[in-house]
Amino acid sequence: MNGTQDPHTQPVVRLDSVTRFYGGPKNRVTALDNVSISLERGTFTAVMGPSGAGKSTFLHCAAGLDRPTSGSVHLDGVDLASLREKALTKFRRERIGFVFQAFNLLPALSVVDNVTLPLRLSGTRPKKALVDEVLEQVGLSGRRRSRPGELSGGQQQRVAIARALVTQPAVIYGDEPTGALDTRTAAEVLTLLRQSVDVARQTIVMVTHDPVAAAYADRVVFLADGRLIGTLEGPTVEQVTEQMQSLGTWSDPFAIQRPEHGVHR
Ligand code: ADP
Repeated sequence: MNGTQDPHTQPVVRLDSVTRFYGGPKNRVTALDNVSISLERGTFTAVMGPSGAGKSTFLHCAAGLDRPTSGSVHLDGVDLASLREKALTKFRRERIGFVFQAFNLLPALSVVDNVTLPLRLSGTRPKKALVDEVLEQVGLSGRRRSRPGELSGGQQQRVAIARALVTQPAVIYGDEPTGALDTRTAAEVLTLLRQSVDVARQTIVMVTHDPVAAAYADRVVFLADGRLIGTLEGPTVEQVTEQMQSLGTWSDPFAIQRPEHGVHR
């Protein structure tokens, strides 16, 4: 690579040989083991794997919330290791959106104030047209002045999605964004995320345990024991379920990459 990357064709997120150890030499845990992956603009990726597989560590390293022990993370062409804490915080605020299972809205603030908070925190005056557009997109134009406590779970998650979208981030990371929602509400939220990918070319990476949620993604990546052990492109619920069941029993984690398992299509 010659170092001059075209911002339109470079991956939005790139992990190169990312390894993350926790603990000291005597009780070392390898949470991520030599993970490399590129995520293109306008793609929706689901991250799955058994508990302890390294999903949270993956998300935290990919978002600059945790630093890899070795390897590198590029986001929007920027090597996150090159940023000191303050610059990294600013970068995260401006270039990354987060959507969590627990919504994480401020109860005392109105919908519109929750949505515009990241902009105001980074010293940017919210553009009314953009805020209106995002509220329209998530179907909450009529609830601008409501407080989170007056909204349903699905509506609160849509406020959180609007808050993530309003900074027009390079990537939105979701940590079980539908984990606290009933099936129908989860489907509405997932449809909204899918639309932001299809219509606005938003890039989304979502950790989930739910094969139905994962099937909304373009690609599912499976982690086990900190390793990236397989990928499903254009996943169906049945394929994801099958892979999850296999994950529990495999003695050879690389089995998932063998073509006869039908993982790569
Ligand atoms: P997942 O999100 O898939 O459940 P995690 O990324 O949380 O997995 O954890 C991966 C491994 O790293 C687990 O064995 C976990 O116990 C360990 N781990 C995660 N964070 C820490 C930490 N701060 N200190 C020590 N071990 C950790």
